[in-house]
Amino acid sequence: MNISLYNTLSRQKELFVPINKDQVGLYSCGPTVYLYPHIGNMRPYVISDLIRRLFEYEGQTVTQVINITDVGHLVSDTDEGEDKMEKEARIEGKSAKEIADFYLADFRHNLANLNIRSDGTIFPRATEHIKEQIELIKTLEEKGFTYRTSDGIYFDTAKYPKYAELAKLDLAGQREGARVEVNHEKRNPTDFALWKFSPKGELRQQEWESPWGKGFPGWHIECSAMSMKYLGHHFDIHTGGIDHIPVHHTNERAQSECATGEPYANYWLHVAFLIIEGEKMSKSLGNIYRIADLEEKGYSPLAYRYWLLTGSYHKTLNFTWETLNGAQTAYDRLLGQISELRNLGGESGTPDSAWRDKFSEAISDDLNSPQAIAVIWDLLKDDSVSPADKLATILDFDRVLGLDLKAQSKKEIVIPETVKQLALEREDARRAKNYSKSDELRQ
Ligand code: AMP
Ligand code: ZN
Repeated sequence: MNISLYNTLSRQKELFVPINKDQVGLYSCGPTVYLYPHIGNMRPYVISDLIRRLFEYEGQTVTQVINITDVGHLVSDTDEGEDKMEKEARIEGKSAKEIADFYLADFRHNLANLNIRSDGTIFPRATEHIKEQIELIKTLEEKGFTYRTSDGIYFDTAKYPKYAELAKLDLAGQREGARVEVNHEKRNPTDFALWKFSPKGELRQQEWESPWGKGFPGWHIECSAMSMKYLGHHFDIHTGGIDHIPVHHTNERAQSECATGEPYANYWLHVAFLIIEGEKMSKSLGNIYRIADLEEKGYSPLAYRYWLLTGSYHKTLNFTWETLNGAQTAYDRLLGQISELRNLGGESGTPDSAWRDKFSEAISDDLNSPQAIAVIWDLLKDDSVSPADKLATILDFDRVLGLDLKAQSKKEIVIPETVKQLALEREDARRAKNYSKSDELRQ
């Protein structure tokens, strides 16, 4: 195994060395289940799936954890404002648990549609790990890392000398700007809540007794408590979107290392944003599309996965319907060629080792999926490899890429209703000799 990964912590590509031989611990920050996940939200999970598949392809066992945030994530993404879960429960007139169950089911459905592996994956919920979170806060308190304010128990970031390391934070600059700080009781602008007290006179749906008073956990503590429970104090890889670097992951690392006195995650991988019309796709801006929206327009979720993989995970991707259309065409062409290879040579070929090396070299180089996909198209043009071996080689690569090429290439093509309708309209336009309209419809 010779896999290198770009580590946000060192800002360098590093050769991956597992903590335990043959076993990789992978923690992926999961969704806050208060609304439907959008297609941008799904990008980090396609990438963590690629990581899992790559390690399994290389013969390793992967323990993957994707947490489910169902309490404590406040609308401001800091320690102020309403809990996203409670707010949505109020809007929809449901319980916070019903909201969480409903949107979690949609998230799981998206994972399946995008062919993201979830067999064996642990999906721990924050509300089901309150005890572990309280224990961790107690440990931090015993070691002197916490203090109390009128609204909660806070982590004193000045007591963790490496606080600025992951995000290369300018702490002096942040202190300068602290005049606008909302919470004057905080010792440092970067300090964050470990436990928040239920606001007086306000009835929360989700609150628990604790040694400090009735309340609920801060947003970050769940990830530390649950990663440690399922992967141990010190594990291999931690993933998430780049928005998590300066606050969520920085805080997670600080409280974890202070609680255990050990290093936390070795490799921090961050996935760039999906943007639309120049802005980050986000639930709060409302400029979102869901996987279901793509399907409604006749696009397959796997064409979306294909498109994501044709871009480096470090690069911002700009979503347009034209690009998705291009990806659908390319993906369909790939399925067509695979089905042709099957017709020509059958399914009893063996993977070609020279092409396998080229593929491995690409994908093991910090998950260079665009290059790995280019290898497939180059292989398709290579006449020296028999159709049967070509098929076997591409299906072997797909164990990593997860494009479900084997099953999808056997599927009968179902023409979407919208396309059938357009074809009928085009036929009418042709009959009426309205050729400009018929051309437009064909386009
Ligand atoms: P959330 O459900 O908001 O907690 O986010 C779930 C995951 O989606 C996190 O890893 C975020 O970093 C990531 N994320 C949110 N918006 C985008 C986006 N536009 N593009 C890529 N990733 C995103
Ligand atoms: Zn997290």
